Amino acid sequence: MTERLYYEDSYLLEFDGKVTQVRQEQGCWVALDRSAFYPTSGGQPYDTGALIWKNGKTAVTDVQVDKSGVVWHRVEDPVLPGTEVHGSIDAERRKDHMEQHAGEHLLAGAIWEKLGGTTIGLHLGSEESSIDVTMPDGRTHLSDEEIEMLERLENSRIRADAPIRCWFPNEEELNALPLRKKPAVEEHIRVVSMGDFEMVACGGTHPSSTGQIGQIKIISNVPSRGKIRISFLCGERAENYFRILQQCARKVGNVLSCPMDRLASCAGELKAKLADAERRLNRFETERILDFIHVNEETDSLPGVTLSVTVLEEMNSKAVSAAVTEYISEKGKALLLCVGERLTFARSSDVNIDMNELIRRVGRGGGRPDLSSGAGIPQCVQVARKILMTEGKDKKWRSK
Ligand SMILES: [Zn+2]
Repeated sequence: MTERLYYEDSYLLEFDGKVTQVRQEQGCWVALDRSAFYPTSGGQPYDTGALIWKNGKTAVTDVQVDKSGVVWHRVEDPVLPGTEVHGSIDAERRKDHMEQHAGEHLLAGAIWEKLGGTTIGLHLGSEESSIDVTMPDGRTHLSDEEIEMLERLENSRIRADAPIRCWFPNEEELNALPLRKKPAVEEHIRVVSMGDFEMVACGGTHPSSTGQIGQIKIISNVPSRGKIRISFLCGERAENYFRILQQCARKVGNVLSCPMDRLASCAGELKAKLADAERRLNRFETERILDFIHVNEETDSLPGVTLSVTVLEEMNSKAVSAAVTEYISEKGKALLLCVGERLTFARSSDVNIDMNELIRRVGRGGGRPDLSSGAGIPQCVQVARKILMTEGKDKKWRSK
């Protein structure tokens, strides 16, 4: 079993130990008789750093603990059993993990105290951390007011800089302690307390007072398999998040020429104006297309039917569809339209021409007998016109 030095002192980043075992398994792993490296557990990831010995040094890239309590360090270069080593831990990474981890205690404690919610697990990620919470009434979302209440309470407890204490109580003392939840392990139970508002079993690394958490910011709460998944940032991560948000809000404010507190309403007004402008533009283009279609109308090509054979440059497809729909809503119309490289053959409901069959004969595409579309070139509409005029000479085009 490895003596875990971080239990006594979370600030210990340099220590001496001895290699007791070495194993090869997806890299080289060494066990030490004593170590201040934190092994992945309780949702908190491992520490990184280096092992240094006489004439040698290697990076520690992972740390895990086995069932018998031996802490294993994955190293880049092999170290022989019996080697006396000096361990050095990456301070920034450890500090960040301590901030996130201790912040989670405050969050879980406040949710329990104020809302009766039970925190199930912690996931300390490289960008954000999350907990899953079971609510007494089974709901899977917190209101904005509840989030604000929790943030205010936790941050006031951070500003109060309350002491954080970790110790191994004896069984009698343990039984008398008002723990927030039942310990997950049965022996070597370590307890952490924060001021008079949090007390729970925990084997993690914590700062010595709440003030060192800096600040906490809840960034989302979403339903997750019957629970609430709450994501949060503490310490420097919360500070960075605020900076990015502020920069982003300021830039958007500059673009919209609007103060930060009116961003949402300014963006809403802008979106409404844009939608109105798009609608007007579409209507304008639709009318332009209809004008072209009307200019090309032939009344004597097909008996009883007005035929328009129209070729246009590329146009807005929404406006084209709207114009076609509008045109064939009148009685007695047939339209052979080519816009760019797109064909649309359409006719009024009282006209007896199979546009689906016609478009297949001259280009690629299909659809319904009254409205068909596909790909083709301007010549296609002329070929289709010729087919209608020659093959359909004696046809009865319109139903009564
Ligand atoms: Zn803890």
